[in-house]
Amino acid sequence: EPQAEASRPGLLGRLIGRSATTEPRRVLDDDMLESLEEMLIAADMGVDTALRVTANIAEGRLGRRVSGREIRELLAQEIARVMEPVARPLPLYPSKPQVVLVVGVNGSGKTTTIGKLASQFRAAGKSVVIAAGDTFRAAAVEQLQVWGDRAGVPVLTAPEGSDPASLAFDAMTKAEADGADLLLIDTAGRLQNRADLMEELAKIVRVIRKKDPEAPHNTLLVLDATTGQNALSQVETFRQLANVSGLVMTKLDGTAKGGVLVALADKFGLPIHAIGVGEQIDDLAPFDPEEFAAALTG
Ligand code: GDP
Repeated sequence: EPQAEASRPGLLGRLIGRSATTEPRRVLDDDMLESLEEMLIAADMGVDTALRVTANIAEGRLGRRVSGREIRELLAQEIARVMEPVARPLPLYPSKPQVVLVVGVNGSGKTTTIGKLASQFRAAGKSVVIAAGDTFRAAAVEQLQVWGDRAGVPVLTAPEGSDPASLAFDAMTKAEADGADLLLIDTAGRLQNRADLMEELAKIVRVIRKKDPEAPHNTLLVLDATTGQNALSQVETFRQLANVSGLVMTKLDGTAKGGVLVALADKFGLPIHAIGVGEQIDDLAPFDPEEFAAALTG
């Protein structure tokens, strides 16, 4: 299917041309820059970022002869440069528990990511409690319990339709009593009624701050990388709803539209704490800018 094919990481490399040794070097002119811009935009990098990246590549090189391989390498360098500052693991704090609020639209991979995070923290010797804060989605609560079992982590639930803030408070109480290192709180992802969601998230924050004024220590926004430019508007929306401190980009395996990460980094500068690279519990990886740039342009 052409759409998926066109958005796979490596797209840029294929478009620019792989036959670096056989192809003639071409003059870097406005035409070449324009087609480069178009490729970057097609790869979901966004117009502003595409323009800036091509301008940086053009700098001091206009009129020179360049090979496809040089262009790919320059592009990879530019992309890595944009991504370097946002590649930061989730900061850890001495608070017990460190409270991680997890937000994002339904389907973005929140539940899966919480399971993967819980498993990673457990493997690092930390004790974790999960709160199934999307109390309106029975399926999400069940799914979170499955992930909790896999990770060996207790999952606190509340009856369907009950107040997520009161569950969050109970979860704080339990996490404190257990001396847990981390409390991961799932939240609802219904954007249909933003005012309700905003109030719900604000109430969770208010209530957990009664226990710890510093909480939540992190507010993670989970974004599906395959939604392309939609990811940008989701960041804008969730920044109005919550104090987003960092991102997890999911579904970067397969045919992910990886280019949007560059646009996100360029526009918001929010740290990318981890990337989802599959549906299994170990499929959560640190974000590596050079590897990413190489994959996108290779
Ligand atoms: P939620 O509604 O935000 O809680 O989303 P889920 O965690 O239920 O995930 C939605 C779907 O995306 C599920 O089918 C997951 O298996 C899948 N998913 C989540 N993360 C990834 C990922 O990194 N890669 C792939 N390929 N699928 C993922």
